[in-house]
Amino acid sequence: MKRFSCDEVVELVTVYLEGELDAPRGGRFEEHLGGCEGCERYLGQFRATIGALGELPPTALPGEARERLLAAFRDRGRP
Ligand SMILES: [Zn+2]
Repeated sequence: MKRFSCDEVVELVTVYLEGELDAPRGGRFEEHLGGCEGCERYLGQFRATIGALGELPPTALPGEARERLLAAFRDRGRP
């Protein structure tokens, strides 16, 4: 089965937190989080943001912030 990439996980964070992710994709999402510190931290930050706002941000992250995050992932250095 194809694994989610970090980009896909970032795309699906809002869907996941809304409980709208179907079971097969939810399982793969959580599997990725279990093996990816960057995405796990991202999800934690997202949850904290939601806790502060009391709701999901309307459009997830602004494009610029997301680009910075993805760039940070890339800079971590891949095998
Ligand atoms: Zn990841």
